[in-house]
Amino acid sequence: MQQAISLAKEAAVKGDVPVGALVVHDSGNVVGRGANLREQDNDPTAHAEIVAIRNAAKKLGNYRLDDLTMVVTLEPCGMCAGAIAQSRIKRLVLVHLMKSTAQLDLSGIYFGIQELSINQR
Ligand SMILES: [Zn+2]
Repeated sequence: MQQAISLAKEAAVKGDVPVGALVVHDSGNVVGRGANLREQDNDPTAHAEIVAIRNAAKKLGNYRLDDLTMVVTLEPCGMCAGAIAQSRIKRLVLVHLMKSTAQLDLSGIYFGIQELSINQR
């Protein structure tokens, strides 16, 4: 969770909306990391979730991310929800940042956790 928040902070420092995402194995190993890179890369698809999915798929050599969990600091948009479904990620953990992200000051954030089981067979 802290890693996802750190990625969100990195995005904010670089002028992007602060969103961070991780793809995590049940063992706790992080296999994919992503920060929102839309402004930095001038890429409208470079949401943190997409970046993390691409990173994990490349690292694992497989687009099927079965049995993995995504941890993300913002509820996924429609594009990211579709990518999460297509990648077959089984669980989504939302880390809700309670402080306004518009302030770009995440030093005193509070967060809650919500887990969703998805892509069940
Ligand atoms: Zn998105």
